[in-house]
Amino acid sequence: MDGNLFDLISRRIKSPSKVFLDTEAGVRMTYADMLTRSAQLANALVLNGVEPGDRVAVQVEKTPECLLLYLATLRAGAVYLPLNTAYTLAELDYFLADAEPKLVVCDPARREGIADIAKRRGVHAVETLDSDGKGSLTQIAAKAPKDFADVPRAPDDLAAILYTSGTTGRSKGAMLSHRNLASNAQVLAEYWRFTDNDVLLHVLPIYHTHGLFVACNTLMLAGGAMLFRPKFDADDVMRLLPQATSMMGVPTFYTRLLRHPKLTQTACAHMRLFTSGSAPLLAETHREFKAKTGHAILERYGMTETGMNTSNPYDGERIAGTVGYPLPGVALRVTDGETGKILPQGEVGIIEVKGENVFSGYWRLPERTKTEFRADGFFITGDVGKIDTRGYVHIVGREKDLIITGGFNVYPKEVEIEIDALPGVVECAVIGCPHPDFGEGVTAVVVKSAGATICEQDVLAALDGRLAKFKLPKRVIFIDDLPRNSMGKVQKNILREQNAKLYT
Ligand code: AMP
Repeated sequence: MDGNLFDLISRRIKSPSKVFLDTEAGVRMTYADMLTRSAQLANALVLNGVEPGDRVAVQVEKTPECLLLYLATLRAGAVYLPLNTAYTLAELDYFLADAEPKLVVCDPARREGIADIAKRRGVHAVETLDSDGKGSLTQIAAKAPKDFADVPRAPDDLAAILYTSGTTGRSKGAMLSHRNLASNAQVLAEYWRFTDNDVLLHVLPIYHTHGLFVACNTLMLAGGAMLFRPKFDADDVMRLLPQATSMMGVPTFYTRLLRHPKLTQTACAHMRLFTSGSAPLLAETHREFKAKTGHAILERYGMTETGMNTSNPYDGERIAGTVGYPLPGVALRVTDGETGKILPQGEVGIIEVKGENVFSGYWRLPERTKTEFRADGFFITGDVGKIDTRGYVHIVGREKDLIITGGFNVYPKEVEIEIDALPGVVECAVIGCPHPDFGEGVTAVVVKSAGATICEQDVLAALDGRLAKFKLPKRVIFIDDLPRNSMGKVQKNILREQNAKLYT
């Protein structure tokens, strides 16, 4: 049997006339449309020289065509490489150099800048796709045949590379196979009871594992439909909830919905499931949402490298502040970060996972990959947590001070490097401080050199255009010295405590 995830998706289509996507433009795309249009796009990829195993880098706005491009890439046996639309040209240069894609698909507005980089980095072709799903790529596809001979893949062949930020400032490409993606989506469809009667309200971005794999792969395997919208907007969501059965979100969605005057039990009467992940959901949000709507948000935990690892139960108790049980097929343990020894239940340590969902390693970083896996195949997630007496997993922090703002990861080091390089700055520490809207707000604590006049606005102006907008500090604070422990390490916990009320 073919290991290509697309083969599995297409074999699951029971009724081609069933709705696949309902779009903002009011267009209903059926599963039959999905098959023909992704075939045309797959032909367009081949016409651009894309061969099995080649990377296809995509930095475009969320549109139905972008989702079809992902499917087309699978069909062509190539490797899908989605990039956050917020990444700057400087950041793209790194990704193109590292991943060496055969084709880059970008917004027409960025074509010129990207074409320059692409040429330097040996990329074969650059095509465009705009926020209306139009561009040079869809023009080629429109003239291409409506069928395509899908390229068979072995289960361990690569399906996608998703870049994660690195604490050293260097992003790493997580290599995900067809097996990784297919197994996780199958488990989730079953665990969360998705069927072809489901209509998922899809308002997450699709350059990230949550919106692309957790949401789209799961729904496609169940044969369900998606109300596919470019982004989260609380008014839109409230308007669409009566047509939906389910929604997947980051905690920020729920805190925003809670502030919406129309959020009531009646407004959610048609819904059967709300899930949350990518960042910790405050227990308070969970409780408030339950009180207002009658729905207990189902919190789950996963990461780019592993897909989903744990989930609160569908039928059993969904406990606020926990991420539930390890999913079927996922082995999860908590170990001592220093010794690697497995810790007894209840003790806090590093979470390690193993299963078909876990990636095979970081792109072209075999040495780095080795250090992130134990000899028995467990992946060291870097998340700090525990398993309670009922078997529920709790995430209590992040080993490496990762900041999660509005569901997006920001590694402090990436921002610190930029600020440290500014004239008048001695050093800085970038931390996450509790933020009512974003979960955490990126905050820079800066030490200036004697006599320097650099101010908050200067720092923010200097970073603009150097870093994606979501990574920019929300506040810049100046202090005389960074607190350090006896080993000389900056004590970020003290800085976090000092600034705990900065945004509240
Ligand atoms: P990403 O690779 O962007 O999906 O980010 C993965 C990281 O997000 C994980 O390693 C966790 O630190 C964090 N994360 C994901 N889901 C949760 C959750 N439900 N609660 C707490 N942290 C989470």
